[in-house]
Amino acid sequence: MTRLRVYTCPHCGRGFAQGTGPIHTATCIHAPDMPDRVRAALEDPDRPGYALSVRGYSERAPQFAATSADILARAWGPTWADVARRVGLEPGQRAGTKKGTNTKAQKEATEARAIAETEEALQRDAELREYWSGGRGLPVLDTPRQLPDGRVAWMVR
Ligand SMILES: [Zn+2]
Repeated sequence: MTRLRVYTCPHCGRGFAQGTGPIHTATCIHAPDMPDRVRAALEDPDRPGYALSVRGYSERAPQFAATSADILARAWGPTWADVARRVGLEPGQRAGTKKGTNTKAQKEATEARAIAETEEALQRDAELREYWSGGRGLPVLDTPRQLPDGRVAWMVR
């Protein structure tokens, strides 16, 4: 039997392989000072007391040796706002994007595009319906053909 788990994290007590253990411990969420590190990385430098977005945090986390946003959300979440409050910060913004990337103008452009696409689809639909109905029913070739069993068949174009 080989012993793969030769490293035990001093913070959470989980066993790891020798290679990955220390890497885990460096950002183990159970490290006593992890909340401080997370707070340092998460606090918006432009707005003290408020949390950055997930993206903003993720950009800064490595320089503070703070654990990843995924792990934080799993441990302290589920929402990013929960994570922020856990370290005493006000949730900065609802979405995961930095303020300004989802502007009103962009939203309107997206909506306009969606409306145009819907209108196009309706137009195609209407043309198709008109083609098939046309007030005359289905277009049919004008010579009916007698089938061997006596029924009459028209060829539909
Ligand atoms: Zn650990």
